Amino acid sequence: MYRAPVQEIAHTLKNVAGLKAALDAGELGDLSEDLVDAVLEEAGRFASERIAPLNREGDETGATLKGAVVTTPPGFAQTYRDWAEGGWNAISSPEEFGGQGLPNMLAVAASEMWNSASMGFALCPLLTIGAIEALHAHGSRELQDTYLEKIVSGEWTGTMNLTEPQCGSDLAALKTRAEPAGDGTYRIFGQKIFITYGEHDFTENICHLVLARLPDAPAGTRGISLFLVPKFLVNEDGSLGERNDVFCQSIEHKLGIHASPTCVMIYGDGFEGREAGAIGYLIGEENRGLNCMFTMMNNARLNVGIQGVAVAEAAYQHALAYANERKQGKSGEYDGSGMAPIVYHPDVVRNLLTMKAMTNAARGICYSCAHALDMQEGKPDEEAKKWAERSGLLTPVAKAFSTDIGCEVASIGVQIHGGMGFIEETGAAQYMRDARINPIYEGTNGIQAIDLVTRKLPLSGGKAVRDYIGELREIVEAVRGTNHEAFGDTAELLEDAVNAFEETTEWLLKALSDGESEAALAGATPYLRMFGLASGGCYLAKSGLSPDGAERVELARFFAENHVAECAALKTTVTRGSQSLLNAGRALRSA
Ligand SMILES: Cc1cc2nc3c(=O)[nH]c(=O)nc-3n(C[C@H](O)[C@H](O)[C@H](O)COP(=O)(O)OP(=O)(O)OC[C@H]3O[C@@H](n4cnc5c(N)ncnc54)[C@H](O)[C@@H]3O)c2cc1C
Repeated sequence: MYRAPVQEIAHTLKNVAGLKAALDAGELGDLSEDLVDAVLEEAGRFASERIAPLNREGDETGATLKGAVVTTPPGFAQTYRDWAEGGWNAISSPEEFGGQGLPNMLAVAASEMWNSASMGFALCPLLTIGAIEALHAHGSRELQDTYLEKIVSGEWTGTMNLTEPQCGSDLAALKTRAEPAGDGTYRIFGQKIFITYGEHDFTENICHLVLARLPDAPAGTRGISLFLVPKFLVNEDGSLGERNDVFCQSIEHKLGIHASPTCVMIYGDGFEGREAGAIGYLIGEENRGLNCMFTMMNNARLNVGIQGVAVAEAAYQHALAYANERKQGKSGEYDGSGMAPIVYHPDVVRNLLTMKAMTNAARGICYSCAHALDMQEGKPDEEAKKWAERSGLLTPVAKAFSTDIGCEVASIGVQIHGGMGFIEETGAAQYMRDARINPIYEGTNGIQAIDLVTRKLPLSGGKAVRDYIGELREIVEAVRGTNHEAFGDTAELLEDAVNAFEETTEWLLKALSDGESEAALAGATPYLRMFGLASGGCYLAKSGLSPDGAERVELARFFAENHVAECAALKTTVTRGSQSLLNAGRALRSA
């Protein structure tokens, strides 16, 4: 069963992502290292002892629907309430609404632990936190006063309603209608699909954030507005009032995350003879809903990246335990009698180390992204812009690289279990099934790669990415300068990877400025992978540079010698593979 790797998480936060330097420089208010350690320790305990034991049954029983009522698997609702009462929903939320105002870095680290313990459980808070951010950044004071405290405490939850049957990656096709009611409120009509925790039994009220179109709105994404649509209306004294006209029609039967209800939501069909139309309240300005939703989506994208890390960590722990128990074959290094545990076989070791190194590399990327978010707070404009661009640059990589490796690592975990990996009882297959959604939702990984190449590389004329590459070079030089012999050729190998990364970045920037956007788009996904491998390799090496880093040096070297060489091959793919892709692709089209 999952045990939260609190030491490793703390080490990565402090020594890789920059938490220690920020604390030392007094950039995080009166937050102390002791408090950081205490929060991580307690979060680890709750995740390991309370949430992880629910994971298997959550998968087996799943969420169920009767009428419009969703019941979550045994133990989930009570554990959620205990979790919220423990203040965990509020750790990074604004203090003015009852939150603890702790840095994103801590919230992301805690989120990793909830998700490792059970992705099906942790998805509910993941969306709630995005709703808090959107409401706090864009909601009117009145809306904030009515809703935020309850959502921050976890007494009510939040959802995110974008997707419709004809509208997934392309929100321009959105059809849900919002009609002004003449009293400052709106009536919402339409169908949303795939809504995570759209209905559940954790809390009395659910606050849906819904994208919809006003009657006179311009076509496309410029005509979308954001509304808050509560399941129950709220009376002036803050108590719950009438039921609103929003209901769960059905829940999906899915490959994984069975505990998490994925709902078809119907807005405004009318019920019990009442006039149809779900009452909604505008968040931000009319037709500017996508901007508001992006606040929520950026947060959610990093947190989905963390889900990739989380599921990879859990799958790794599971596989490592099995590899130490399962005996097959002989090994010269095994001094026991009979067959050796499979962890003695180099090929199994390769698999386990790949799992561990990929997980730690992705963790370094995600935490560094959270650090960049924290560094924006209270900074002068120029510096805030620099950190905003850094978090913007890292968000698609955090999301897509981490969730891709989440799938790879969980799949390797199944392989390490041999035939038993294919049998549900061992639990290895659940990680693989659960992990598979992460590259799909919150903007597919293909969309993340496009975002990285077309929107993030050109930030400040390419300076944002060039500065970042410069910082990776500083890590390479620090590794070269250390007298730690165990690093071997790590510095040279990382330098090759960073060179390939830089040359490919320049090629893409030129392709974009030459108007060859199709060629750039063709290389977007392999480029994102290269970005993840080069930066992940550097973060692993940085992790080894700390005084207690001996074991981490071995892992960084393993990764440099066994995985970062892929960067050179990916350079060829991006810079030489686009024309054949575009040419050969024409034959695939039937229309
Ligand atoms: C379990 C689950 C939970 C979810 N939770 C929520 C939720 O809470 N709220 C919510 O609103 N939605 C939610 N979703 C929906 C999810 O975000 C979408 O499924 C996702 O954004 C992809 O949209 P789509 O399914 O319509 O795929 P499509 O947009 O049809 O994409 C199909 C394929 O085409 C590719 N593609 C599409 N457009 C382009 C392009 N321009 N360039 C290159 N490639 C492209 C995609 O990468 C993908 O591989 C959830 C989905 C699932 C399965």
